[in-house]
Amino acid sequence: MEQDPIEDSLRGWNWDKPPIRPRAYLNLGVSQVAYKYCPTRRDIYLRWNNVKGCRNIFLRNGSLVHEVFHLANQDVRRELIQGFSPWVAYENISRRAVLRLKKIGVNVEKDGWLLDLYKSLTLSWCADKWIGFISEYRVDGSPLGLSKNLHVDGLAEGSVVIEIKYGRPYDFHKLGLAGYALALECFLEAPFDYGILIYVSNNSSQINVSWEPVYISPYLRKEFLEARDEVIDLILSEREPPIADFCPESCPYRGVCR
Ligand code: SF4
Repeated sequence: MEQDPIEDSLRGWNWDKPPIRPRAYLNLGVSQVAYKYCPTRRDIYLRWNNVKGCRNIFLRNGSLVHEVFHLANQDVRRELIQGFSPWVAYENISRRAVLRLKKIGVNVEKDGWLLDLYKSLTLSWCADKWIGFISEYRVDGSPLGLSKNLHVDGLAEGSVVIEIKYGRPYDFHKLGLAGYALALECFLEAPFDYGILIYVSNNSSQINVSWEPVYISPYLRKEFLEARDEVIDLILSEREPPIADFCPESCPYRGVCR
């Protein structure tokens, strides 16, 4: 950060001046802007025109992974705040794990990897007595042309933005962190300089959790703002982008385009 400081013009609290001020206020999601899974951005056009995508296995698993993180965070927080020691807290959580997961629609017979994920998160957070993490933080990104109701996956002590991703890492995930950091700076008028990308993947019954710390640099901020302006131009132009040559398996519009 010392070598590459963030100039004030790239802070979200400068929402009323370019480059932060948007050309139009279209209520965009951070993921719509940042995550370029579709090479031609046709997914944005389809979504804007209310074409429904299919909730495929990738989207289902991704959404359940987020819910498991949220649930694990709530459960550890509840036990530790009540004053239980880490081992008693984990025993209580572990005993109720199957029922808790059932509440969010997880059948542990079929999706045992989600039970493993829940247990490994709660075990390590209990052991570290770690409750300094707020999950599912809501923020109004409308002054930046983003949604009024953005959901940040998590905020950790020291103003660290947390994003949870299911599947393989992509470079553009860092742009998502920049989008949330800008929205938080606008909303809370405080700097958000760092983020963590947490990756969860599963290979049959095995889970893999890894994480990457990210400095939300001037470059990432500019890239996010450029991507936002490109999306605004694309929507306002009403031009229909072509079908991509290569479509990721996870795209919910495969049944529409291909
Ligand atoms: S199916 Fe292909 S072209 Fe259509 S939105 Fe998805 S990635 Fe883009």
